[in-house]
Amino acid sequence: MAKLHLICGNCGCNDMWEWKHNPEFFDDDELIDDENVFLFCRNCATIHSLNDNAKKN
Ligand SMILES: [Zn+2]
Repeated sequence: MAKLHLICGNCGCNDMWEWKHNPEFFDDDELIDDENVFLFCRNCATIHSLNDNAKKN
């Protein structure tokens, strides 16, 4: 079985992840992006966007 380790680049925490998915992201009612996947580190409250690293097929 493959193992994946995720480590927060900000604080080094590796076990307090929360996954978020926003199909549409609006800023002042303007559509900025239509697909946003985030990993949220609950240890340091940093939001890591996966849009650049993991494109939707
Ligand atoms: Zn962190």
